[in-house]
Amino acid sequence: MRHLAEGIHRFQRDVFPDKAGLFARLATTHQPGTLFISCSDARVVPELITQADPGELFVIRTAGNLIPAYAPGADGVAAGIEYAVALLGVRDVIVCGHSACGAMTALAEGHDLAGAPAVADWLRHADASRARTASTTAGEEQVAALVRANVVAQLANLATHPSVARALAEGRVRLHGWVFDIPTGTVEEVDAPRPAPAA
Ligand SMILES: [Zn+2]
Repeated sequence: MRHLAEGIHRFQRDVFPDKAGLFARLATTHQPGTLFISCSDARVVPELITQADPGELFVIRTAGNLIPAYAPGADGVAAGIEYAVALLGVRDVIVCGHSACGAMTALAEGHDLAGAPAVADWLRHADASRARTASTTAGEEQVAALVRANVVAQLANLATHPSVARALAEGRVRLHGWVFDIPTGTVEEVDAPRPAPAA
């Protein structure tokens, strides 16, 4: 923990002065261009891998970068999405999975999650992803295939949120799927599903 406190001192001494103007502007404006939804995994750092400045990314992180399909009722993920898309007016939404994802590994390898019932329940939001890859691959390849299929499935879930559906229909937002590879630092694009044509 002490290294974090020391990090704050280093930030204030070495980093902040160069960005003081930016932070002064950000003190009164919040206009991120991108909603970035990633896994909570400590090895995936959105601002680092995109080299984005403070104020550019509105970030939501969940275990397995899972986005529950829209359902009426209070929900922190849904509220964050609606806030970013409807009120802040982000123009791009990125769903970013990553290699060696613990959530996807647990699903692909059928880990016993009896001791973590909340995790087990949460991972049900990846049922469709798992169904698509279960019979096609094995081992490490299966985890990688599930990571990709899961990004596609979560993009589809994202589009069920009314704020996103509206923005897509009006051409105000674009959806993107990414997978971050930890050992190489590379990002692979995953095709987003086509939005359903407006009736
Ligand atoms: Zn993960």
